[in-house]
Amino acid sequence: MTSCETKPTLVLYTGGTFGMKVNGEGLKPVEKFTVSDELETIVSLSDRKKADEISRKFGDAVLQMRSFTTRKTKTVDREPIKYHFYELDTLIDSSLMNEDNWKEIATLIKGFYDDYSGFVVVMGTDTMAYASSALSFMLENLGKPVVFTGAQIPIFDGRSDGPENLMCSLIVSTLGIPEVLLCFNKKAFRGNRVVKTDCVDLDAYDSPNLPPLVTLDSKVTGSKTESLERKPGNLQVQEMCPKGQVGLLVIYPGITEEQVRNTVKALHAVVVLTFGSGNIDDKIVNVLGDEQLKRKRLYANVTQCLKGAVTSDYNASKALERLGAVNCSDITTEAAFTKLSYVLAKKGTFEERKQMMETVLRGEMSAEDRVKKNRNIENN
Ligand code: ASP
Repeated sequence: MTSCETKPTLVLYTGGTFGMKVNGEGLKPVEKFTVSDELETIVSLSDRKKADEISRKFGDAVLQMRSFTTRKTKTVDREPIKYHFYELDTLIDSSLMNEDNWKEIATLIKGFYDDYSGFVVVMGTDTMAYASSALSFMLENLGKPVVFTGAQIPIFDGRSDGPENLMCSLIVSTLGIPEVLLCFNKKAFRGNRVVKTDCVDLDAYDSPNLPPLVTLDSKVTGSKTESLERKPGNLQVQEMCPKGQVGLLVIYPGITEEQVRNTVKALHAVVVLTFGSGNIDDKIVNVLGDEQLKRKRLYANVTQCLKGAVTSDYNASKALERLGAVNCSDITTEAAFTKLSYVLAKKGTFEERKQMMETVLRGEMSAEDRVKKNRNIENN
């Protein structure tokens, strides 16, 4: 795999374990610029003794950044990678992130889009799969790589996985793959296909229904999974719907009708996390139907299993199908939740939004039999 452009990469640093130290009660992000200082001491990521201080205009603001160059590596047939490292003003644990933070990241990417060949977002691992899924929808007409990464061990620790994860992400950011990815432990996955499966080990993510797009072992290799097509048109940032409109309903044995009603009554769209290949008790579906009469809602049928897809094989999946719930195939919970938020924010009728949910928009689910060719419905 070779690079397509020679512009630098922009790294947006938002917080997370990557740059945390124990302070008072547990790990929390260190002060701004401490991570930039530390990067200067990591040989693979900083080929000079001192990084250049730079500033770039963003709207009315002037953002302080540092300019680094990686050390040359023979595993990638190219020159050392130049990158600019920008630390956001408020560095946070990703468990505090929501759609406002996703919008801030997306807006920065749009603002600097023409100046860089790719982007890396360093954040906490807890909600990274939500963020990478969200950005995959919010960044419309994306034509450059946006690579999410982080660490399980802070970069101040001798055994940190942060430097390797950042180095691999920088490499992926130069490969011209026009989509949002998540790179961790030497694998780069499609960003809306990943789940965090381990909160301790360095191999923290899996993409249960799609192999990695790039593997970064001693050689960097692309997999057979094809990356998305580059879409024509300028990059646009589509916001998510207001908070509180989309939610999750986890089905479990013995869940009561009252519990279901209480969960869905205020929502406009619901990810219904069903058993196996989309199965659910008819009694629960009746409650969902009653609530549907009070307010039209988008229901998305998503399996609780990591692997496999929602099908209509079982009688126990028919009632939800009759109710008009969208069969979301093998989508992850994170991608279903963020896709619903994206779809709800779009102009259009209930039926048009439902059709968007059924359509594969960014390679987020395998649904060959239901892939809608007409992508125009997105351009509302
Ligand atoms: N709690 C941390 C976070 O998500 C965990 C991590 O970064 O790995 O910000």
